[in-house]
Amino acid sequence: MSVSVAVIGGGISGLVAAYRLRCSLGPDADISIVETSSRLGGKLRTVDLGSGPVDIGAEAFIARRPEVPALLAELGLSDQIVYPAGLSPLIWSQGSLHRLPAGTLMGIPAGGDAVAGLVSSDTLSRISAERSVPFHWECGSDCSVAHLVSERFGDQVVRRSVDPLLGGVYSGLAETIGVRAALPTLAAALDAGATSLSDAVAAALPTPAPGPVFGALKDGYGVLLDALLGASGAKVITAAASGLRREGTRWFVDPIGTVDAVILAVPAPAAAALLADVAPVAARTAEEIRLASSAVVALRFAGDIDLPQNSGILVATDADLTAKAFTLSSRKWTHLAQRGDHLVRASFGRFGAAEIVESSDAELIALAREDLSTVTGITDEPTVAFVQRWHGGLPQYAPGHTAMVAEIEHGVAELAGVEVAGSWLHGVGVPACVAVAQTAAARICEGVAP
Ligand SMILES: Cc1cc2nc3c(=O)[nH]c(=O)nc-3n(C[C@H](O)[C@H](O)[C@H](O)COP(=O)(O)OP(=O)(O)OC[C@H]3O[C@@H](n4cnc5c(N)ncnc54)[C@H](O)[C@@H]3O)c2cc1C
Repeated sequence: MSVSVAVIGGGISGLVAAYRLRCSLGPDADISIVETSSRLGGKLRTVDLGSGPVDIGAEAFIARRPEVPALLAELGLSDQIVYPAGLSPLIWSQGSLHRLPAGTLMGIPAGGDAVAGLVSSDTLSRISAERSVPFHWECGSDCSVAHLVSERFGDQVVRRSVDPLLGGVYSGLAETIGVRAALPTLAAALDAGATSLSDAVAAALPTPAPGPVFGALKDGYGVLLDALLGASGAKVITAAASGLRREGTRWFVDPIGTVDAVILAVPAPAAAALLADVAPVAARTAEEIRLASSAVVALRFAGDIDLPQNSGILVATDADLTAKAFTLSSRKWTHLAQRGDHLVRASFGRFGAAEIVESSDAELIALAREDLSTVTGITDEPTVAFVQRWHGGLPQYAPGHTAMVAEIEHGVAELAGVEVAGSWLHGVGVPACVAVAQTAAARICEGVAP
């Protein structure tokens, strides 16, 4: 009899897992993807706003990690890879635009120079003197990024330099994100005995490497999703998986039926619900992982508009603006610039402020235009405006996250034939999701191989 595996969740994690299962288990394996939505892709979505495909969820990947380029090469899609035009982003703070601090670790500087002009002279003096202020870090401990940075450098560094970057990656705030999971190299430098935050950041900064940091797909992530689905040959079942229980050595997935193995590639709350009966301790821990909701408003302008020559604008959290960031997509990406129109993505919503995401489309579009006008002076009417809400879009890697994930994985390891994957485990970015999904699929294949 052929092996049967159900992959619950049809985001990038689930699609990669299904594809890897097919590669290893061969054509006879019965692989299904169970997805609650009628659309596959989860937080990846590509739409056509009139002049070609545009990503309105994730738009890029870290090109220095190998997973996405390797996957694209394997699927014959290497010619899809495009790189940014090389323009730098800006920060909106105190009513004006500033260059994004260079040489920081997620906005945390190793010295005052990086944030000069963005923070007050008092804050700059405090940063300069930081090495001489006694510092205590307990090896192996964790705390919020805000706690560490505000205690050493002051609140302005958190609000104007760190928050804008964490808002982009996690839809989070320095208060809701933990040092150990979000900044592992910083935690390692602190554990190794750094005697100041400045020294720890200096030690943790990545060695400059040649080549672009980010890449994207010319025709959007939709191309990758389609290729993965096609190559996986998986059967797609549109349903919400609502329960998981043992049936002898096999697993019963409600309402799908009995399978040999299961990969839960769903967000943490859904994984917690599915694990509740079979791994209650892991389930309770997964339940504690909180999610941030956000909304993206994509604005297309047909004619020429006076967009700054920058890739984007991040917004300080002490600024009087509703949007948290703008991607100036037609400046950031050459392939979009070549289409001859302009595209701007405004992002709204940070952890703990989900109300904004519930605003009507008209309200979100009006806010996007108003805030864009405030930061760039552009008042032109967009020819197309598209609103995408991402409910529960990004998990918060809170203090203690690494230990929580270890506990969840320990609990799941007891369940032969069950694996977890997804953005809430070892990184929210697409490359991390691909890596985790590949590991989950490999473990399942080891277990079910004859
Ligand atoms: C606005 C935004 C911008 C981003 N930008 C970037 C970026 O530029 N670069 C980058 O690398 N990353 C980015 N990310 C992060 C990245 O997109 C996500 O972390 C990643 O796509 C998550 O993939 P996933 O498959 O793990 O989860 P998801 O995409 O959440 O997929 C999980 C799927 O499970 C389904 N599901 C849930 N419950 C059930 C159930 N009970 N039964 C069946 N199905 C269920 C859901 O409907 C969903 O389709 C961004 C995220 C957001 C929200």
